Amino acid sequence: MAGVKVYTTENCPYCRMVQAFLRKHDVEFELVDVGKDREAAREMIEISGQRGVPVTISGDEVVVGFDAKRLRELFGKPPEELVHDAVIVGAGPAGLTAAVYCARKLMRTVVVAENVGGQAAWSWTIENYMGFSTISGEELIKKFEEQVRGFQVRLELESVEEVRKEGEVFLTRTPSGTVYRSRTLILAPGKEPKKLGLLGEDQLMGKGVSICAICDAPLYRGKPVAVVGGGNAAFQTALEMKKFTDSVTLIVRRSLRCDEVYIERAKEAGIRILPHHEVTALHGDAGLTGITIRDRETGEETGLDVDGLFLAIGLAPNTGFLKGLVALNEQNEILIDENGHTSVPGVFAAGDATCVKAKQIIVAAGDGAKAALEAHEYFEELTGRPTEEQTVCR
Ligand SMILES: Cc1cc2nc3c(=O)[nH]c(=O)nc-3n(C[C@H](O)[C@H](O)[C@H](O)COP(=O)(O)OP(=O)(O)OC[C@H]3O[C@@H](n4cnc5c(N)ncnc54)[C@H](O)[C@@H]3O)c2cc1C
Repeated sequence: MAGVKVYTTENCPYCRMVQAFLRKHDVEFELVDVGKDREAAREMIEISGQRGVPVTISGDEVVVGFDAKRLRELFGKPPEELVHDAVIVGAGPAGLTAAVYCARKLMRTVVVAENVGGQAAWSWTIENYMGFSTISGEELIKKFEEQVRGFQVRLELESVEEVRKEGEVFLTRTPSGTVYRSRTLILAPGKEPKKLGLLGEDQLMGKGVSICAICDAPLYRGKPVAVVGGGNAAFQTALEMKKFTDSVTLIVRRSLRCDEVYIERAKEAGIRILPHHEVTALHGDAGLTGITIRDRETGEETGLDVDGLFLAIGLAPNTGFLKGLVALNEQNEILIDENGHTSVPGVFAAGDATCVKAKQIIVAAGDGAKAALEAHEYFEELTGRPTEEQTVCR
């Protein structure tokens, strides 16, 4: 298909996924970096009304974000129906590691995920993944993906909307109507960012409000921005935004919950920190023009003129699509035992969507490996089919 244009920024993981999707479907496209080309940034905002990347243009069609369903409708080919030995939901550190382990056991595996990398791709700097003293989330995930692609693993970029069991087979269904059948199921859907729940928030998402600072930061060069949140992720976001603009305000609902080192760094960088404040209103129609904040101690409300509002207020597990298939705890996390077994035989889980306390890349990856090994054992017992180790095929 001719005339497809993708607006990106250098570090945006979702932009990379759009490119990967288009390449996989043999779609030629022109890439435009709006972080470097201000005229192109103006053009993108004019065409799409978006101040966030990626934006994909094809004729009259404007696709905002990495919208796998829409991209599949426009460019995708329907996948053939197969019965797999394992379906893995999620391609973050847990799902990708599980994929390598399943593939090495010669299990016919498909990974179905909305994006590759999950939260790990949003981290600016990772300093606690063994083997790398420091690495960006983007780089680490590239290495994970490369390793997965070295094996015969099918990776489908789609959202899962339902999983259920029919006899001994699990059915994993996506909004495009595709149903992936499998003997075992590994759940690794991770977590997604919470929103503020304010009026107009959804309409202003990508038009001033952002949950992906690593994607959108270059579009706010020289503009006043605010970051909401009081944990490490919020401080990291504020510090990174300071590289693009002088005016960064950090709005913290309660007291600061981050590591001491970040408070020092934020003060040194000249970030304005407002503890015990909350955002009570968003302003602007076509794009964010400002916010109202409230001092939770005095009740006083003030306006703040900002072009960008970056949310870093925590995460909720992506378990809505399970609809009762497996047992969850009160936080809607999947209940697992120490080996990744859920309440349903044949269903295994790993990573941040589970009840495991430590929400870290190295833990998610380790638990992904454990879940895959258990799935393999279950599969062998179920089918009586012994499998062998697969070697890397390049
Ligand atoms: C800003 C930030 C910085 C961080 N920094 C660090 C750090 O420095 N060090 C560290 O160890 N940890 C860090 N973390 C935590 C770390 O990223 C997570 O612990 C880790 O990514 C969890 O991996 P996961 O595979 O369980 O889930 P995720 O990484 O959340 O991946 C989930 C996957 O599931 C997919 N998915 C979700 N729902 C569906 C669905 N319905 N259908 C299809 N696919 C779906 C997603 O698309 C994604 O591919 C950070 C997190 C954030 C947000």
